Amino acid sequence: MTVEIDRNSGFCGGVIRAIDGAERVLAEKGSLYSLGAIVHNEAELARLQRLGLRTIDSVDGPPAARKRAARLSGDSTGSRPVLLIRAHGEPPQTYRIAREKGYEVVDFTCPVVLKIQKSIREAWQRSRPDGQIVLFGKVGHAEVLGLVGQVDGKAKVVEDIAQLEEAISDGSIDVGKPIDIFSQTTKSPEGYAALCSALAERMASENLLTVHNTICTQVASRYKQLSDFADGHDVVVFVSGKESSNGRVLCDLCRSVNGRTYQVGEASGIRAEWFLPDDNVGVCGATSTPKWLLEEVATQIKNLH
Ligand code: SF4
Repeated sequence: MTVEIDRNSGFCGGVIRAIDGAERVLAEKGSLYSLGAIVHNEAELARLQRLGLRTIDSVDGPPAARKRAARLSGDSTGSRPVLLIRAHGEPPQTYRIAREKGYEVVDFTCPVVLKIQKSIREAWQRSRPDGQIVLFGKVGHAEVLGLVGQVDGKAKVVEDIAQLEEAISDGSIDVGKPIDIFSQTTKSPEGYAALCSALAERMASENLLTVHNTICTQVASRYKQLSDFADGHDVVVFVSGKESSNGRVLCDLCRSVNGRTYQVGEASGIRAEWFLPDDNVGVCGATSTPKWLLEEVATQIKNLH
């Protein structure tokens, strides 16, 4: 049996930047609060937790909770707790509330996401009062909440063509008025193209629709690379955390190309019965899967025989 790790798998640039930044702050301060999981991978989160990273769900808690959190982290210096904004970004009010609550904010929003946030604000300003912002993304996803927050929540999020049709029918999207459409960075390019075509067909005039190409190029190129990788192996082991929506999409892509695709969160999830002695096995992962975990999984497979 041969085992190959996909050289294009592993963290994207935005996640690498946030994790490097977190490690620098932790080395200097010893403790750091991340608003939401810095990466959707349980194994990497556990590693960072050992370095002093704490994940919190909200900055909106009472100051007492913050003090308690600082005490639990061993911070007795009275210095301000440091809050990390992860690569997904946040709506503007998060920064305001965090500062009001006494946090020092370190912002590791991915530069690609920052650029889209700015484009959405500008499109909204330009097209008011009639213009509408439509976002192709996962309802409730952190990046989507950050993007929608740029226009005070006045953007319509649709997850698929069925939701788009529903929004047109109930009037929450008016096809007779200008629309700027954006995509969450990690959506599939084919899915976005299909949604934009469906919307263009329904518009009263094609001049009313402006399509913004906001899928991350790192993600877009990965679709083709990954599908070739899955096709070129007898068995695919896809490594990703349960919470990673990018992981689910990419694993489904592998499975659509190669029926012998298995998903694991860590090396202990590997099962000997998945493999035959002559199999050529490919190990790959999501933008939130660390390289060290891909290597651990590959080693586990090699040790089976
Ligand atoms: S997927 Fe792309 S846009 Fe999203 S965090 Fe990674 S590099 Fe940034």
